[in-house]
This record gives sequence, structure tokens and C-alpha cells, in this order.
Amino acid sequence: MFYVPDGTDRAGYYECEDCGERFLDVRIAPAIVCPYCGEIPDMEIGPDEEMPETKESARLIHMVEGEDVEKYDTLLSLAITGGDYSWI
Ligand SMILES: [Zn+2]
Repeated sequence: MFYVPDGTDRAGYYECEDCGERFLDVRIAPAIVCPYCGEIPDMEIGPDEEMPETKESARLIHMVEGEDVEKYDTLLSLAITGGDYSWI
């Protein structure tokens, strides 16, 4: 497993609107901060300062469950190394 831990039985399949990256994440939400181009909020910021804005540019395309998680993980990992995306 490349994107999610072994034994994960439910994951979200996301595509980033900004960088086009496709990936799996164990977080399930309509949109999440892209781990490739999104900014991670600085948690050490003082209480008087405004929270930095994070852009949730990675949109959930659909959920994958059960054996599909491993299948998607494998196929996405292969895509990174030069495979094509036409399987999706
Ligand atoms: Zn991105």
C-alpha cells in the first residue's frame, strides 16, 4: 500500500483541482487540502493572529471500499511510475 495503511477498508479517491494529482486518503471529506500543493496550517500561530487560509483544492471523486482500496492504491502507484490513467 502506497497511499493508505495496510488493512484500510475505506478511503476517498481525490483529484486536486490545482495540480491535477490523484490520490487516496483515509480522510473522507467533500474536499481536503492537497498533500502535494496545499499548505499545511501552522499550528503554532498565536491566538491573536488569524488562522492562515488553507485551500481545500482536492475534491472527493468517490469512495473506495473493501478490496477496491488495495486495487486503487496499486493502480495509482503504478500511474506515478509512468503508467497511463485510462483505467479509471
Ligand atoms: Zn494539488
